[in-house]
Amino acid sequence: MSDLDSKQIERMSSVFKAQTAAFEDERHRSYKDRLRDIDAIAALTKRHADAIKDAAAADFGVRSRNETQLTEVAYMATAAKHTRRHLWSWMQKEKVSVPGNLSPGKAYVRREPKGVAGIISPWNYPFQLAFSPILAALAAGCRVMLKPSELTPNMSDLMKAMLAEEFDESHVAVILGGPAVGEAFTKIPFDHLLYTGSTHVGRLVAKAAAENLTPVTLELGGKSPVIIDDSYDPEQAAIPLTFGKFMNAGQTCIAPDYVLAPGDKTRPLAEAIIARAQHSYPDWASDEDYTAIVSDRHYERLNAMIEEARAGGAEILQAEGGDPGNARKIAPTVVLNPPEDSKLMQEEIFGPVLPVLSHNGLDDAVSRVNAKDRPLALYVYSKNRKTARKVLEGTISGGAVVNNTMLHYSVEDLPFGGVGASGYGAYHGKAGFETFTHARSVFEAPVWHPSRLIAPPYGKLFQMIAKN
Ligand code: NAD
Repeated sequence: MSDLDSKQIERMSSVFKAQTAAFEDERHRSYKDRLRDIDAIAALTKRHADAIKDAAAADFGVRSRNETQLTEVAYMATAAKHTRRHLWSWMQKEKVSVPGNLSPGKAYVRREPKGVAGIISPWNYPFQLAFSPILAALAAGCRVMLKPSELTPNMSDLMKAMLAEEFDESHVAVILGGPAVGEAFTKIPFDHLLYTGSTHVGRLVAKAAAENLTPVTLELGGKSPVIIDDSYDPEQAAIPLTFGKFMNAGQTCIAPDYVLAPGDKTRPLAEAIIARAQHSYPDWASDEDYTAIVSDRHYERLNAMIEEARAGGAEILQAEGGDPGNARKIAPTVVLNPPEDSKLMQEEIFGPVLPVLSHNGLDDAVSRVNAKDRPLALYVYSKNRKTARKVLEGTISGGAVVNNTMLHYSVEDLPFGGVGASGYGAYHGKAGFETFTHARSVFEAPVWHPSRLIAPPYGKLFQMIAKN
């Protein structure tokens, strides 16, 4: 049954009209009012921290409360603080120099709110991936409509109720529903649309938005590789790799997707990762910090990937644990050398399964990464800075980390976004403010400006000015 009815379409369109009218009434939301909006986002996050953890736990079955605190609640508190601290400077006009033949005059860029922003968010970090773009849009002075994921209904209901405490619907509104609602949402002529989710749906979103010439930011996924060189100790690499891969049970857009390591290091690395996972989650099945898979479909998809690799002759290493019962949990898993044509190596894994493969030197590793779509993140482990730079220069990815995993995400001053099949555009910090503002170029001429002398009939003065 379609999740869309005519009432929902009517509601979407009336909210959009109300937001557009409100924006027309207040095209330049003041600095003071934007600070109020940022403070409201921070206050809501703090006030509802426990409810956010409860909702995530209810949606996933098991969702580590510590990780919800770190990646959703604390992340948003830090992001709001950062935005508050820098908003004044981001809002200032940016002067540029005026060429001599156009003097006197002033030239500058004004950062103006685009208008009504649409945001479509996924389920894997259901609070942060909705609230972080909302924060950026509000800092920019926009109005916002959010369409959160249908796979995390408790969080979607909670966010709707939370936002209604601080914002009128003509300012921030939440539209609930699944793919059909999402599709209708993308047909709204927003002034900007930020979509976070799969590459497949991202293409549909871009197509729909093109009809209205709505500018789009696509925050998509992909296979984020890890390259390890000869100089790096597998035991050392295993620590951040295990953390990055098994946090949220691997359901993270920038989780390491597969590892390329020197041949003699693959087995020690695989064993070190499993040992580290065993240390982190002594009994993953009952461990409240080891998150479950979000839905039956994803649970079955991941198990099928493991079984396909096993059938193809790959060795499977798994952490030991009890019986997870009905919880959709999958043991921390490393797959040694799965076939290149297996689903594990062809599709984004998005779960607690990490292929570890041998490379034949850095050039081989780089060319194997380049044979796939451009990833959202790339991780390189090397004690040699030149080697790390060589890998960065030889590849293209949305972001990258040297000798660690995922940390770039938390540096608010780093624009976060993909490239190629992992998306385009960026947000976080200033990049988010820029995404939701229009860079309006202004030239201010004095009342009398010498350019008036340049007009037909062209004479000697013109020849002097126009010469190259
Ligand atoms: P998804 O694409 O299935 O769904 C995301 C959102 O799109 C949901 O709100 C959904 O209802 C909506 N949607 C579905 N069909 C639609 C349509 N036809 N038109 C408009 N909207 C539609 O993605 P998902 O499974 O929720 O998320 C997982 C994917 O997201 C992974 O690929 C992951 O890598 C990626 N991701 C990327 C980032 C990032 O920041 N780049 C962050 C998290 C997740």
